[in-house]
Amino acid sequence: MKRAIYPGSFDPATKGHLDILKRATKLFDEVVVVVMTNVKKKNSHSFTVEERVEFLKRCTKDMEKVRVDSYSGLLADYARQVGAVAVVKGLRAVSDFEDEFQQSLTNKKLNPELETVFLTAEAENMFLSSSVVKQVCSLGGDISDFVPAEIHEDIIKKLSNIE
Ligand code: ADP
Repeated sequence: MKRAIYPGSFDPATKGHLDILKRATKLFDEVVVVVMTNVKKKNSHSFTVEERVEFLKRCTKDMEKVRVDSYSGLLADYARQVGAVAVVKGLRAVSDFEDEFQQSLTNKKLNPELETVFLTAEAENMFLSSSVVKQVCSLGGDISDFVPAEIHEDIIKKLSNIE
């Protein structure tokens, strides 16, 4: 059984995240999407960990090979705990690479058994990030092409309460 983990903030999940996830399930027997709660963007999160986990569960309910979790420690430790052989990351642009490369080497140092697998974003998702979703939505723009239909309304509801 080859298990991978797909970590991120998912604040909120986008169609870009779901695309990477779907493609990762073709490579692994199980993919655990893990909402990391100790990333540096901590104070700028718009959605609680519980909301982000619940959104991901809703969007992946028909994906048999996917499990959703959250974690607040070292990714290398989490990978060991769940017996994951790989970390899956999405790459949108060269600008993503430097940071991801450093994280990958750090994880490898902390957990030598752990590989990082980079999947390139679909061309139509190259520009898409959770921040773009929040920015467009808070200014009243249409985000239906950016986020899964299952969570579209809840994202609008939450962001209109904040702004
Ligand atoms: P962001 O970088 O948008 O704040 P996350 O930290 O939640 O998002 O990202 C989790 C993972 O998903 C990272 O590996 C990131 O590179 C990847 N990812 C984010 N958006 C996309 C996208 N539009 N297409 C492909 N991969 C993406």
